Amino acid sequence: MTTASTPICVVGAGTMGRGIAQTALSAGHSVTLVDPQEAQLKAATDDIGTRLAKRQPAIAASLDSLLTTCTSMDLAPQHPNTVVIEAVLESLDVKAAVFTAAADHFGPQCILATNTSSLSVSEIAARSPLPSRVVGMHFFNPVPVMKLVEVVTGLQTDQQVADDIDTLAVAWGKTVARVTNAPGFIVNRVARGFYGEPLRLLQESVASPATLDAIIRGAGQFRMGPFELMDLIGNDVNAAVTRTVWTAFNFDPRFEPSRIQDELVAAGRYGRKRGHGFYSYADGATADAPAQVVAGALPGESIRRGDSPELDTLVERARVAVTREETALSARGELVLDGTVVVITRGRTARSESAERGGVPVVVLDRCISVASATGIAIASSHPEVLSTVAAMLERAGIAAHPVSDVPGLVLARTLAVVANEAWETTMHGVATPDDIDVAMMLGTNYPAGPFEWTRDWSRAAVLELLDALWSSYHDTRYRANRLLRD
Ligand code: NAD
Repeated sequence: MTTASTPICVVGAGTMGRGIAQTALSAGHSVTLVDPQEAQLKAATDDIGTRLAKRQPAIAASLDSLLTTCTSMDLAPQHPNTVVIEAVLESLDVKAAVFTAAADHFGPQCILATNTSSLSVSEIAARSPLPSRVVGMHFFNPVPVMKLVEVVTGLQTDQQVADDIDTLAVAWGKTVARVTNAPGFIVNRVARGFYGEPLRLLQESVASPATLDAIIRGAGQFRMGPFELMDLIGNDVNAAVTRTVWTAFNFDPRFEPSRIQDELVAAGRYGRKRGHGFYSYADGATADAPAQVVAGALPGESIRRGDSPELDTLVERARVAVTREETALSARGELVLDGTVVVITRGRTARSESAERGGVPVVVLDRCISVASATGIAIASSHPEVLSTVAAMLERAGIAAHPVSDVPGLVLARTLAVVANEAWETTMHGVATPDDIDVAMMLGTNYPAGPFEWTRDWSRAAVLELLDALWSSYHDTRYRANRLLRD
């Protein structure tokens, strides 16, 4: 059992170690921080003191008695029920050595928690003298702010040990997602499509990074688009995580790294930290503007056919008076603006939607997380000259129309279908429950909704239809739909 009096030993005083130590101190624990580098210990103590002084001055004032620092595990106070949390560099050898020393120093009752992001918890356990006491405790950066902790059970982990770490994380104000050890756990696996699919769209010259980012922010309510996020994380770091997950899944095309990102890394364009990535951050650089369709005249005649809550909301937002009309062919929702048929993507191109309707102009709109609050959307047409009329209606609704090539599934629908498919695959593999996956994606990556939530909102059938349409266009196993989603 873990309580506020459980002694905590954090190993590694870098970015993560000092965040973990601060969080434990905030919750009332005595903490020992171990790092071979005196300078790191000094910097960590100063950092922790400054941050606590702002939020918890009483704890900051007692820091000398609550926080012990030492350059070697041998010097740490020897409580048998210590929870050791390692946040040393991402190396199996180094982590195994740390846990061997900790097991030797604290004895068989201690818990050995690893903050690894990409190594196997089962493999770290196998290299430790106390495999059943090893558990994953994966925090997110910055630790005191980010609410999520993935508690990872390796093949050898004692269930009670995982429960104790779960209790501890909750007592520290965190929300726990329980994970059975698998590459990337939940977040680093399910999020791969959020980068991988837009990178594919970029590779196919569907739109610029600025346009793709604007669509994902505007239609998806994501705080950042994938390209600005990759530049922030660092393309070197993001590409390395992708490659690790891809390798661990035996080169499954779902996780295939991007040539474009590899090329940026090769050129040293890591992103913000190097002043250049997908975007330039040089002094005086102007921000790339997303492409936008110039609105024309509003349509004279608007007809609504079939069932589509999304199109109903759109028409309502644009304050367009519509005539209802039903025909045998209009079971699928569509809006007809001066003879142009507007549909929400179901994974087919505007050209094929047009061909099915005898060649009438068709405009395909991307999906949104919520049409009611969208501020931008991807739009493609079989007849580009009709885009300006549809853009006029969207403009009246307060939604910017971003033109993209006429590709199956456009941008947000395609990206989120791929992310949702991986979420279903993760749950089918027994790695985590749908609820834990949704919570992990919302708290670990700030997604506006979890993948199971948007599957429910769009309907499973719609997500499946989109994936199957992508599969028939590309014949790429990347788009194979998960069996549970299909069932
Ligand atoms: P960091 O480089 O900032 O810090 C690592 C620290 O470990 C350094 O202070 C180093 O001196 C120390 N160290 C090295 N060998 C040691 C040893 N044998 N004993 C004790 N200390 C030792 O690294 P970080 O970003 O804090 O990452 C640490 C771990 O957390 C890694 O496993 C990483 O994958 C994981 N992680 C990082 C993030 C992140 O966003 N940075 C997020 C989640 C998990």
